[in-house]
Amino acid sequence: MKVLKFGGTSLGSPERLKGIVNIVRKEEQVIVVLSAMSGTTNKLVSICESLHDDKRDDAKTKIKELSDFYKQYVNDLFTTESYQNQGHELVNSHLTYIESFTEDLFTIHEEKAILAQGELISTALFHLYLQEINESSALISALDFMRIDKDLEPDAYYIKHNLERELKPLSDKKIIVTQGYICRNAFGEIDNLKRGGSDYSATLIGAALEVENIEIWTDIDGMHNNDPRVVEKTYSIHHLSYDEAAELAYFGAKILHPASVYPAQLKGIPIKLKNTLNPSLEGTTIDANNQNRKFTAVAAKDNITAISIKSGRMLLAYGFLRKVFEIFERYKTPIDVITTSEVAVSITIDDDTNIRGIYEELRLLGQVEIEKNLSIVCVVGTFSKKEKGDGTILFDTLKNIPIRMVSYGGSENNISFIIESEYKTQALQDLNKGLFNL
Ligand code: ASP
Ligand code: MG
Repeated sequence: MKVLKFGGTSLGSPERLKGIVNIVRKEEQVIVVLSAMSGTTNKLVSICESLHDDKRDDAKTKIKELSDFYKQYVNDLFTTESYQNQGHELVNSHLTYIESFTEDLFTIHEEKAILAQGELISTALFHLYLQEINESSALISALDFMRIDKDLEPDAYYIKHNLERELKPLSDKKIIVTQGYICRNAFGEIDNLKRGGSDYSATLIGAALEVENIEIWTDIDGMHNNDPRVVEKTYSIHHLSYDEAAELAYFGAKILHPASVYPAQLKGIPIKLKNTLNPSLEGTTIDANNQNRKFTAVAAKDNITAISIKSGRMLLAYGFLRKVFEIFERYKTPIDVITTSEVAVSITIDDDTNIRGIYEELRLLGQVEIEKNLSIVCVVGTFSKKEKGDGTILFDTLKNIPIRMVSYGGSENNISFIIESEYKTQALQDLNKGLFNL
């Protein structure tokens, strides 16, 4: 069995949806994980914002826009009147549900329920279309098996047992359709795996069922050696190790949700990144093998904040870093990159929601400085501790870029540079020339 996940743009029009059907019907038995249709989750987020601000009429206008989009979509997708009617009915039931919150109470719980409707609609329409064309298929609800625990981490044991139970009566079905992104939380309420989380759903499902491979289908031919939005000449990398892929996904390659690598890695299941617009292209395969290339790829992540703490108390002291880290832990703020000297430590974060509170507490430990608008440029490859000269190549390539921080040696797969964001494009272009001769 395989798991195939398709993103929103691959479902963006009835034509594209039919393209997906052509891909999945060639498989023997397959679980198809779908995102919401492109634009839908953003629209749902915006409806929630309106409701949050008590702008109910704005919310209604946005619901009407969704309704118009889906009316046209259903008319174009189905050929027979009976299926068109069923399609309209199905969409209406979800939109009426969303609309009920414009009259009623609206809290964070309702928000999660509203955000879930995008995937519920896309999977229901997809399944209905498979029925119209007589494909053997079944729809299962992720809300019946996908679950996060009280620390918001996926509950692998729960997922495995409940998914197996759901699949048991469906062994004769060829295409099993389910939602990405949505789940229940430890209280049984509707929740989600955060934006872009459909990839994560796919690898959690693949790992739970120990499938032969997991395919993530998007609009690009796999992971590239550099950011194609910023750099002209880039190429698709045919093979990546799990560690390389995780670093690239985390540090900016938008094609894959960073958390999604780990479940597959744990079970040794290959992840393939494929292009729906050109299915015959090889794409990228991610597995446990390392090609031992020196430089595999570079990626960058923006909106980084650096915080430096300088304190005479750090000199020859122990326990200082623990105090610093505890503050970030209390504010549930992950740290990306750290560099230290004997009297100072610099830390970067990308979620600065709690920066005020963090700042106030760090101030009790020393002199604190905050810098915004930074980018992490991450070079991924194989940097053996015994090799000479890697640093020379990198620093020489980046000789025209002011470097704020460097993280070298934390892993053998990643060297990261923190720079001001205004230099990012130049840094990526220079690295393309210096490391890949492009
Ligand atoms: N629909 C969700 C989002 O737009 C999840 C996903 O697409 O992966 O973030
Ligand atoms: Mg995505």
